[in-house]
Amino acid sequence: MIRYTLQCSQGHAFEQWFDNMADYDARQDAGSLSCPECGDRTVSKALMAPALGAATKTPATPALPPCATGGCGGGVCPAMAD
Ligand SMILES: [Zn+2]
Repeated sequence: MIRYTLQCSQGHAFEQWFDNMADYDARQDAGSLSCPECGDRTVSKALMAPALGAATKTPATPALPPCATGGCGGGVCPAMAD
């Protein structure tokens, strides 16, 4: 069994259990999925909200590469501007 968070075109999110991904696809194709709140059949998988804190594990990329002394873009390097 697999649980998906689905969302209708009106923005209602709800959870639904499926046997597997193919089961979801089959029910989606058959149009048998509908929003429990408004009955909308335009339903799609909602983007999974990432667990809080997971995003912070991504290392921050430096905004600018380090400049070599005296030679960075012929003086147009923004890091050299004063
Ligand atoms: Zn709805």
